[in-house]
Amino acid sequence: MPAPISSQSLALTPPCTSASFARWCEGAALKGYDLIVIGGGLVGGAIAWGAARRGASVALLDEGDIALRASRGNFGLVWVQSKGLGLPPYAHWTRRSAELWPQMAGTLRDATGIDPALQQPGGLKICLSEAELEEAGRIHQRMAQESGDIGCRMIDRAELKAMVPAVGPRALGASWCPLDGHASPLLLLRALHRALLDAAGDYLPARHVDAISHGPGGFTVRAGAASFLAAKIVLAAGLGNADLAAMVGLFMPVRPLRGEIVVTERMRPFLNYATHALRQTAEGSVMIGDSQEDVGFDTAVSLPVLRGIAGRNLAAFPCLAEATVVRMWSALRVMTPDGFPIYEQSATCPGAFAVTCHSGVTLAGAHALELAPAILSGQLPGKFDAFTSARFAVPTP
Ligand SMILES: Cc1cc2nc3c(=O)[nH]c(=O)nc-3n(C[C@H](O)[C@H](O)[C@H](O)COP(=O)(O)OP(=O)(O)OC[C@H]3O[C@@H](n4cnc5c(N)ncnc54)[C@H](O)[C@@H]3O)c2cc1C
Repeated sequence: MPAPISSQSLALTPPCTSASFARWCEGAALKGYDLIVIGGGLVGGAIAWGAARRGASVALLDEGDIALRASRGNFGLVWVQSKGLGLPPYAHWTRRSAELWPQMAGTLRDATGIDPALQQPGGLKICLSEAELEEAGRIHQRMAQESGDIGCRMIDRAELKAMVPAVGPRALGASWCPLDGHASPLLLLRALHRALLDAAGDYLPARHVDAISHGPGGFTVRAGAASFLAAKIVLAAGLGNADLAAMVGLFMPVRPLRGEIVVTERMRPFLNYATHALRQTAEGSVMIGDSQEDVGFDTAVSLPVLRGIAGRNLAAFPCLAEATVVRMWSALRVMTPDGFPIYEQSATCPGAFAVTCHSGVTLAGAHALELAPAILSGQLPGKFDAFTSARFAVPTP
C-alpha cells in the first residue's frame, strides 16, 4: 500500500550545487542551471516546477508548436483502477499520485490563479456485457491480491443506475474506484508552466535539443546554435526520448500509440463521475474516447474509429444521441513495450535522468511532489528500481 503523505516528505529542501559546477559555468561564460528538463509537456512541466519550487534554478527546454505533444491532446483522467496490473510498484505509485493530486492542484491554484479543474468523485468503467463484467471482476481480484485493497469493487446495474440515472439499458454494471477522477490537462499544463516562471524558472520554447555532452563539470545541452549548462538533466521529451537517451547512456524504447477523442457541445449535467471512456467537463461538454491504434506517427482522425467510440458510448448513455459533435482530434501516446513507465538514472553520465509514461496526467502529482525532489538529491530511491529499462534487456544465450 502507498505510504501515508507526511509533511516531512513534502518539505522544501534547497538543492546543492557544487563550487566546481559554478567555476565550470563561469569558465564557459554561460548561465548554469541546477537542472535542465528537456521536454515541456506534462511530465517535464511537473518535474521542472517541482524542482523550481524547492529553490533549484531550472530551465525547461521545449520544441515549437508543430511538435508531437500528447499533453495537449489527451483525455484528462486521473485514473487508478487497473493501473499496475502485473507490476505492484506501478499500482502503488499511481495511487500515491492520485492522493497527491489535490495538494498539487491547490498549490498550483494558490500560486498562479489557474485551477486545473480537478474533480475526484471516483470513477466507473461501465460494462456492456456479462463478459465485460466478469473480466472487470477478475481484474479487481488480481489487483487487490497483488497491490492491496483500496476500495475498488464491482457494482451492479441497480447501484449504477442509482448513481448515474442517465445510463441506458445496455449498461449492466461497472467497475468502481473511489480514487479516480479527472482534470483539465490544458489548464494543468498552463498552471505548471506559469508556476515554473513564478518560481524563477526559465521556460524556453522553440529549442529542439540535438546534442548533449557530459563532462566533469556537468552537462552541455545544445539546441541549434544555443548551448545551456546544467549540473543535472532530465529527459522528459515524450517520443523524443528515444533519440535523446542514447546521448547519455540510457535506453528509452518508446513508440507512438494513437488515441482519438470526440467532444460534444455543452450538455446539461448528467454525469457526476469520471468514466474510463467518457467524461463531462465542468463546462458541460462531453469528451469521449479511448482508442488505442498502432499506426506509427500518423495523427489523422479515422471516421470508422470515431464511429466505434461514439457507438459504444451511445449505448452506455443514450442521451448522447441529442448531442452535436463540435470537435475531434487524435494524439499520440508515449508507450513503452509493456505499457509501464520508465524512470532511470544514467550509470555512465551521473546526474542524467529519463522519465516516460503514458499517464502523465495521473502521475503529475507524484512527478511534481516526489520525483522532482528525488532527482534534485541526485539519486532515485530504491522504489524506482522496478521501473528501469533493464526489464527490456534481451538475455544473451
Ligand atoms: C488520446 C490520449 C489520451 C490520453 N489520456 C490520458 C488520460 O486520460 N490520463 C492520463 O494520465 N494520461 C493520458 N494520456 C497520456 C498523457 O497525455 C501522456 O502521458 C503525457 O502527455 C505525456 O507527457 P510527456 O510530457 O511525456 O510527453 P509530451 O506531451 O509529448 O511532451 C513532450 C515534449 O517534449 C518536447 N520534445 C521532444 N523532443 C524534444 C527535443 N529533442 N528537444 C526539446 N523538446 C523536445 C515536445 O515538443 C513536447 O512538448 C493520453 C494520451 C493520449 C494521446
